[in-house]
Amino acid sequence: MRGRAGGKGAEGLGWDGKVRAMSHAMPLSVSRSAQLDSLEREVLDVLVVGGGIVGAGVARDAAMRGLSVAVIDQYDFAFGTSSRSSRLLHGGLRYLAQGRVGMVREASREKVTLSRIAPHLAQPLAFIFPTYQKSGWPRWKLRIGVKVYDWLCGAGNLGRSGGLSRKGVLDLLPGLEQNRLTGGVRYFDAFTNDARLVLDTIRSAAASGARAVNYLSLESAGRVGAIWNCQLRCTESDRRVAARAKVVVNAAGAWASRFSASRVKLRLTKGVHVVIDGARLGVAEAVVMTDGPRILFAIPWGERVILGTTDTDYDGPIDAPDCTAEDVAYVLGIVNRTFPSAGLKQEDVISAWSGLRPLLAGPKGKPSDISRAHQIISGEPGWFDVAGGKLTTYRLMAEQTVDRAMAGLGMEARPCRTAAEPILSERGDSSGLTPPPVARGIVEHYCLREWARHLDDVMVRRTGWRFYHRDQMGTAREVAGWMGEALGWDREQMEVELRRYEAMTWSMAMGWIPPDSPGNL
Ligand SMILES: Cc1cc2nc3c(=O)[nH]c(=O)nc-3n(C[C@H](O)[C@H](O)[C@H](O)COP(=O)(O)OP(=O)(O)OC[C@H]3O[C@@H](n4cnc5c(N)ncnc54)[C@H](O)[C@@H]3O)c2cc1C
Repeated sequence: MRGRAGGKGAEGLGWDGKVRAMSHAMPLSVSRSAQLDSLEREVLDVLVVGGGIVGAGVARDAAMRGLSVAVIDQYDFAFGTSSRSSRLLHGGLRYLAQGRVGMVREASREKVTLSRIAPHLAQPLAFIFPTYQKSGWPRWKLRIGVKVYDWLCGAGNLGRSGGLSRKGVLDLLPGLEQNRLTGGVRYFDAFTNDARLVLDTIRSAAASGARAVNYLSLESAGRVGAIWNCQLRCTESDRRVAARAKVVVNAAGAWASRFSASRVKLRLTKGVHVVIDGARLGVAEAVVMTDGPRILFAIPWGERVILGTTDTDYDGPIDAPDCTAEDVAYVLGIVNRTFPSAGLKQEDVISAWSGLRPLLAGPKGKPSDISRAHQIISGEPGWFDVAGGKLTTYRLMAEQTVDRAMAGLGMEARPCRTAAEPILSERGDSSGLTPPPVARGIVEHYCLREWARHLDDVMVRRTGWRFYHRDQMGTAREVAGWMGEALGWDREQMEVELRRYEAMTWSMAMGWIPPDSPGNL
């Protein structure tokens, strides 16, 4: 299975059913059971545990350097934090205020790199940061801050930052709270689609020869000589698979400390986002809203606006972080304070999601003060934990991990090419910042070429229809029909899928909708 499995010039179906050139959109011709058989037969160079952004990045890098690699996820790819973020590629102006200059510089440069290698998933986005008297965010300081922020990007930020007068801010945001307003600044980051970034990175890894299997969990691992014997379990059929690998990369995010070989210590904090209709706020650019030292964002997303986020310690079930009415009320409260005429209520919420930050532990201090730095630890030969970090820094985290893995394998270092080569050299309509139109052709594409196996795989991570559409349950029913045809579901299986999807919606694991939403059954 080494070498290019897809290749340029492959064809795929667009959302309208027309065939278009789509490189890396290879049909998943190898059946799942054949994939599992092959994992039992061969000794892999690298087994990547976790198909979030970090695992996807490691798999792509390792495959591009010619290693035999498999990436597995216990659920769907991007099931965890990597589909529940604020969707920003950013250095982090807030971290600059905390004096973490090295970290901001690193992330700022990666932001620019990702904009180059994944332009379809990195749209330059202006942020307006209004400033107020005695708020702790003085305008003069921010004016210097945003200049430093541009400079830390190296070759140049995605736009030129600068100060705004009071009138300038109000011209852009007429609904803003005016009391004690002094003006503001405007700076640039990029808006992405976190789940699509994972999926396209995995597609790219697969095109370089990586094997990618979702719904396959690492249950236990033990080292015998130079080989890791890994017990895997198919979480759909319960089939057990004994895989062998010279290196295991633990990229299991919030779950990473669960393995006996893991040395990583995490502190989990929860972040909730809510989605409202764009017309309710009318912001053309992103807006920074403050709550003391914390900052929240209003981020335009097509016809919608994403609002968030919270940052609170979390010790509940990792698989299903909740999104409480208090979380939603907190976010809406900050927005209503910033835009007094908005008067947002819970009924305005179209959808919400809740994610866990897998932060490197520091048991003390406020969640928002904990560093977003990353760490690569190897407690035993051939086992690498890679944890912390951000969506924005995933490529760098992967590069450093693969460098260490190759050294561990005693292999001559082959240069990393992930910063130079685009993630997808051509693409169809299946991947972008906003959800594609709902259509049979594109659903078939996700089933046949992007590992979609369940209704939520398409509704939540491949498309985001779950979060974007008011009548998301109606969309889900239509999509279930098309998926059923593509994947050969019978009537009973279709019902199971719909019930599973509905339960996920209600369990709040995938998102949250208010009780009287028109989207409910
Ligand atoms: C609210 C919030 C907002 C954020 N906003 C931003 C932002 O705007 N910009 C930014 O750069 N970063 C942001 N981040 C941080 C960023 O999202 C995370 O750092 C990143 O997504 C973590 O990716 P990961 O691959 O480490 O973890 P995950 O995405 O959680 O992936 C880990 C995967 O491992 C799988 N797994 C676990 N156990 C097993 C097992 N036994 N076998 C197989 N698979 C397993 C899980 O199912 C999961 O899919 C945000 C985070 C949060 C919570």
